[in-house]
Parts: sequence; structure tokens; C-alpha cells
Amino acid sequence: MCCWHFRSTGNKRSLSRYHPSTSMAIALSSPVKFLRGVGPQRAATLEERGIVTAGDLLAYLPFRYEDRIRFTKIAELIPGETHTVLAEVAPGGGSTIRFARGRAPIFHVTVRDGSGSLHARFFHGAYLEKQLKEGRRIVLYGKAEADPHRPGRIEMVNPQIEMIGSGEAPSDSTEVGRIVPIYEAIGGISSRMLRRIIYSVLNQFDGNLPDPLPEEIRERYRFPTRRESMLYVHFPPKNENLELLNTFRSPAQIRLVFEEFFYYQLALALRRESDHRQRGITMRVREDRVREALKRILPFKPTAAQKRVLAEIAGDLEKPYPMHRLLEGDVGSGKTIVALEAATIVIENGYQVALMAPTEILASQHFLSARRILGPTGYHADLLVSGQKRAERESVLARVESGETQLLVGTHALIEEAVKFRRLGLAIVDEQHRFGVLQRKRLIEKGASPHVLVMTATPIPRTLALTLYGDLDLSVIDEMPPGRTPIETRWTSEAQLAGVWEFVRREIARGRQAFVLYPVIEESKQELKAATAEYERLAKTVFPKLRVGLLHGRLKNEEKDAVMDRFRRNELQILVATTVVEVGVDVPNATVMVIEHADRFGLAQLHQLRGRIGRGSEKSYCILVAPRNIKGDAEDRIKAMVTTSNGFEIAEHDLKQRGPGEFFGTRQHGDAAFSFAQPLRDHELLEIARREAFALAENQDKAQEIVARLESMSPAWQKRYHLASIG
Ligand code: ADP
Ligand code: MG
Repeated sequence: MCCWHFRSTGNKRSLSRYHPSTSMAIALSSPVKFLRGVGPQRAATLEERGIVTAGDLLAYLPFRYEDRIRFTKIAELIPGETHTVLAEVAPGGGSTIRFARGRAPIFHVTVRDGSGSLHARFFHGAYLEKQLKEGRRIVLYGKAEADPHRPGRIEMVNPQIEMIGSGEAPSDSTEVGRIVPIYEAIGGISSRMLRRIIYSVLNQFDGNLPDPLPEEIRERYRFPTRRESMLYVHFPPKNENLELLNTFRSPAQIRLVFEEFFYYQLALALRRESDHRQRGITMRVREDRVREALKRILPFKPTAAQKRVLAEIAGDLEKPYPMHRLLEGDVGSGKTIVALEAATIVIENGYQVALMAPTEILASQHFLSARRILGPTGYHADLLVSGQKRAERESVLARVESGETQLLVGTHALIEEAVKFRRLGLAIVDEQHRFGVLQRKRLIEKGASPHVLVMTATPIPRTLALTLYGDLDLSVIDEMPPGRTPIETRWTSEAQLAGVWEFVRREIARGRQAFVLYPVIEESKQELKAATAEYERLAKTVFPKLRVGLLHGRLKNEEKDAVMDRFRRNELQILVATTVVEVGVDVPNATVMVIEHADRFGLAQLHQLRGRIGRGSEKSYCILVAPRNIKGDAEDRIKAMVTTSNGFEIAEHDLKQRGPGEFFGTRQHGDAAFSFAQPLRDHELLEIARREAFALAENQDKAQEIVARLESMSPAWQKRYHLASIG
């Protein structure tokens, strides 16, 4: 790992440089409210962000650095490039120009240095008028552009600016004459104020910065100490490479990123160790009875991937501790049958199985296929969803408690208090990303250390799977069942809808079925076409001779079931729907999907929706209706859909666009887990950190010692540790 070695040459800076003898020493645990430059109000703002102590403040890292040693002279600005300029406000100062009502005022200012003058424009910048008076020194950071209105003049639009003290910069200046760290402002506390506060903390620091990272790891990768790293990231030496800093690749930053991953992975590793010490239910897998049952249920020849994954699951079920396995596979890759095979093993061993799905439609579909597939075995399966009739519900609950129910399929209803299993041996969670961590936990607690299988059609890149579910073992179905023809995806504008409907008619004449999807149920002010109104129109005027049905989330359960049933039996040829069909719905004869307002859907969602077709051997078509002139992210999404149907590629793309937090529809993971490490950018470090953490966890005493060290120094870490350990 040579590239991460810390080049210590010439960087031997000691804290004494920051240690004027007169000031009072500050410890890591000193509350921020006692720091110089932090009054009660700022302290409150900081505390809201979780920054309570001097130590927390030091852990608040700059997100960018500016070279303020070598400023660019205004005369030497190059249009199209980003520069840092030191200048003063020219005579006349700046002025605000207001336009008609409703348009934001624009603040204009001209600044100059010895070489020339530069014009800057700020949208919403009226507040600057008071600050940018003639003679005021400022640093501007932004892209230089040729002024479209005045040839030859260069301007910056919305540059980042910082006011600078007047006169010559003192030698310990935090503002110029060095590589300057830029912090994200916290409430009203600007980057500049944060820099001053942090600088003064370092100045008065008592020098005691414990380093919880195990010595041998630090040596192996030649990481700087925590203390060196902190000094370095807040005030890098003059000769540091700006690009390394700005890509988060300086040795100090690498160490800090590594450290964040390492502790998180250590929590996961310890969690897994303790899982493995837990007594689970050892299932017998190799008996003839079990093999027979498995053979009886298989409706088709499993793919090699399905076989491999089942073997992994069966291996887990035989172990004396509970399985915790994540089963990943793109939409349509055939996860359901694998889950039912696992269920079969467990039921043959005399235990009950719970299968939880995120929507009622999906739960009833699973229930139907379970009954069909498990039919030959004579197992007793039941369905539990929230809208059921009381008597029905009572009798299901009674059967589950007595143990008569061998497979219970349902929605969130499964984790309600009233549900009591007699011998729960396996909990399966389908489309796991739709559930919160706690919901998963509550299902597991319905049994005494049952085996756990979670399934997801969101193909999480391996790196992220390690971050988020690092305590789970990972199985991947990376192969589609045979005989699938790729789906053809097209981007069409609304003007061409007549042709689209004609195409739908032709496909239906060949015996196929179609989905037509809308983003909303009812007409709204947003002028989006709504499922209900469009259903009426399509049924009456566009497809008067065809059988058209409507499905949306506000229908009653029986109505939903009835509509889905009729569609499944091809009694309905066209299903007009909202995103209720997003997950899991499986009707192989449906080969066309028209998605109106496709630009209104997220990428992962479009991919999931498209996964409803292309499930049989007939060629399928996905038609995305969206204006031709859309731009930006929306355009990217549609283009990604047209170019690839590979779920992993789509997931990577989506992740880049939205970031992990939103990607998972939950901010409790990803985002909150790390303050500056980024799993995508830093995946190599993540893998190394994971390896080291899992190796360390094998030595319990040593691992516990590290945890104790961490807990004593960082309350924030305790929170993260907790998060990781309920994952
Ligand atoms: P998902 O992984 O999205 O949950 P499903 O389990 O719903 O996928 O399977 C998609 C479709 O593929 C179903 O119609 C299923 O019956 C079919 N299928 C699954 N495995 C195979 C296989 N090995 N051979 C043929 N068809 C299969
Ligand atoms: Mg599924």
C-alpha cells in the first residue's frame, strides 16, 4: 500500500509552534462555549450540530483548501478557469440592482488589485452592500468568465468571498500567506470564523490528543498520528500539494478516512463475533426428506447462480449460530424461489418461517406463489396484512401461535405485538431497503435467535454493501433465468402518444398485456396527468374495445387483490397504475410498459418499474414519455434508462447522482455513519479498513480495549457504534 505511506520528511511540526506560553491550556473535553471567539449564541449553534467540545470542533474538517500564497493577478485571469484573487473594493463600491417584483436583486461590485479590475455579480447578494465598501480587502474564489455584455471585461458570477483584515497580514494570519482551509459554514458561523476559532483552539491546546488507532496498524501503513493529522488538515504546510488536499488524498486525510471506516467496521465485526457466539437453531439439510421436499417444489431448473446461493444459505442453516445473510439480485433474477427453498428446509426441520414484504400487493402475490409452489408439500401457509377482516385475522393469529401455520407471509402487520410464533426458525425480509433497521430487528425478535435472510433488488455496489450491511454475509444472484429477451427502452415525447397507443394495441392483439403508469393518483395543480382521470379516458376513448383496469394505493385491499388477479389471468389487458406496482409484481405475459411523466421518477424507481416487464420469453418494451427538452439530472436519468438495463450500472449511476443517504431512502445509514469518509470515493480504504477491523476483532481482548479507548474519547462514536450494531 505504498501510496498511503505518510511522507514524514520535512513535516516534523510540533505542537509547540501552536503553544504560546501565556495562554490557558485547552483540553479535548473543554466545552466549546468557553473557547475564545465562541459566545453563548455560537455555542448553541455549534451544539445543534453535535459540536460540544473542543475535540468535536477539531473533528470538523475543511471540505476544501485555497492557495492563498500565490494569488492570481486580475490581469492574468483565464476565462473558464477557477482562480483565487486578492483585491480591494474599487472606488464607488458595489451597488444592488433590483428588477421587477419577484426577481431576485443582483449585487454588482468592482474590485481591483495592482494589475487591473474585475467585476463580480451576486444573485441574492443585496446583503453585501453594507459589507463591501470602498477599500475593503477581500479574497474571491470562483470561475473567471468573459462578461457577455462587455467584450474584453472579465467577471465572476457568485464567487465565494471572504473579507480580509486591513493592512499587512500578521505572521500568524489565518487568512492569507498559506494554504487556507475552507469549512462549510454552520448556521451563521462562516468558514472564516470557524477557521479562527479552530486556529485559536490549536494555539491553546494542551497537546494531549490520544490516538486510539492500534499502533501496529499505524506502523503498517505509516499513518501519521492523530495529532499530526489534525494539525495538518486544519493548517497544512505551505509546501503541501493543493490537489492532494482537495481530493482528500493527503496522508493526514487518508489516515482520518481510514480511521472512520475502521471503527465502524470494528463495530460490525464485533457484532458479528457476538452473533456467532449466539446459540442458533441448527437445521438438518442433508437428509433425504429435505432433498425430496426441495425437489418436489422446483417448478423449473434453477440457474447456476440460484444453486450457488441456495448452497450458501443451506450452509448457514446448518451452523450452530444464526444466519444473517443478504441476498442481492437484480429485478427478475429469481430470488423468490430461493427464499421458498430456504423456507422448505426450515419447515422440514419443524420450524416456522416468516416472510415480510413492503406492500400488500407484493405480500399477497408472494402468498399466492408460495401456495402454488409449496402445494405439493402440503405445508400450511397463511397471509397477514393490516386490512383483513377481524375474524380472519384472529384465526390466522391463533394458527401462528399454535404452530399450525408453517409459513406466514405478510406486510408490516407481521411485527405487530399480537403476532406470536411458536417456533420461528427463519425470518425473511423481501425488498429490505423498504424497511427500517428497527423493523427488521422487531421481526427477528419474534423468535429465539432465528435465521435471517434479507433480500434486495437494489443491486448495491459491493463497497456499499460492506459499509451498510457489513455484519451480513452477502450472496449475489448475478445471472438471469434463461430465455429472457432484453427489454427495449425508448424515450418518446407526448406528441407521439397516438403512435404509442397504436403500438400497445398491436401488442395486445398478439395476446400480450400492458402497464400504463402515472406518478399521481388524482388531478392536482401540478398539471400532471393522474391515474384516475387517465384511466377513464383510456378506457372510454383510446381503448374502448379492450379491458382496462385501474390500480392505486388508495383502493381497498380486496379491490387491489381483485384487480391484480384479473390482470394476472389476462382478464384485464391494460393495467393503469401508480407506483404501487413498483416492487415485486410478477406477470410474465405483460410485455409493454408505458411510463408517463417519466422525468418525474427517480432512476432506481424507473428501473424497478421496468423490472415488471421482460419476465417472460417474449420481447418487452418500455416506453418513457417525457419532454424532449428536459435537462440536467432528469435527462441523465432517462438516458441511463435507455442505454442500460443492468441494475448494477443503474445503481452506481443513481448513487453518484443522489448520494447514499437518499439512495437508500433513509438517512439513518450512510450519511450519518461518516462525517468525511465517502464510501464511493474511498472504497479502497474501506476494503483495507474492513480487513484490518475484522482481523482485530478475532482477538476479543484487544478489540474491546480499542472500543473502550474510543468510547472514553468520543461520545459521537458511541452513537455510531450503536447504529452499526443494530444494523
Ligand atoms: P425477483 O428476483 O425480482 O424477486 P422473481 O423471484 O419474482 O424475481 O422471479 C422472476 C420470474 O422469473 C418469475 O416469474 C419466476 O417464476 C421466474 N424464474 C425464476 N427463476 C427461474 C429459473 N431458474 N428458470 C425460469 N424461470 C425462473
Ligand atoms: Mg421479488
